[in-house]
Amino acid sequence: MASPLILVVEDEPAVRDMIGLTLEQAGYAWIAAGDVTEARCRLADARPDLVLLDWMLPGQHSGLDFARQMRREELTRDLPVILLTARDAEDDKIRGLDVGADDYVTKPFSPRELLARIKALLRRAGQADDEAVISMGGLTLDATSHRVLARDENVALGPTEFKLLSFFIHHPDRVYSRDQLLDRVWGSNIYIDDRTVDVHVRRLRKALSPHGCDRLIQTVRGVGYRFSEQE
Ligand code: CA
Repeated sequence: MASPLILVVEDEPAVRDMIGLTLEQAGYAWIAAGDVTEARCRLADARPDLVLLDWMLPGQHSGLDFARQMRREELTRDLPVILLTARDAEDDKIRGLDVGADDYVTKPFSPRELLARIKALLRRAGQADDEAVISMGGLTLDATSHRVLARDENVALGPTEFKLLSFFIHHPDRVYSRDQLLDRVWGSNIYIDDRTVDVHVRRLRKALSPHGCDRLIQTVRGVGYRFSEQE
């Protein structure tokens, strides 16, 4: 298998070199861009498996803008994105996840932490929960083609939302706590805030709501979430 290709969008040369070295040592291939314009050029001639995206970039567009743009475009819609941020305010993290980043790493980070996040996200993005096509409550999920249909209309989902929906649809009518969902969907070795679950559930509902399917994902107060056709 070819080594995964990572696009690093970071304007500070020292940080970029540190990340590049870390990636090389872990066996990843990487390409770099110093701002959003350059990143767009890289994306025009390469298909990276993941993007490491600095929040604060020079030029007209921030990393946050770029994450948002990538989610809107067909080619990059499913591309896993990790935001690199110097901000560790909780609201900012949530904002980053809200625009479509799959995860974030707060600077300064250790190479080990960065690699753990990359590995977890690549695994999540590349993992098909089940080969079969499964339908429930008007939704059809095809793990092979990585597509979700709501009454024959395509539902655009990011990789994490896809995994989450896949887990739910394979385990209906059962309540899962945020911790259980983190373990089952994100993997047990990853250290993330369980509020991350809420963010992705919110995004999944938002994607399903134009199709009237958001009601399938139910909040069970004080416990967690359940996927069910029953009210
Ligand atoms: Ca920067």
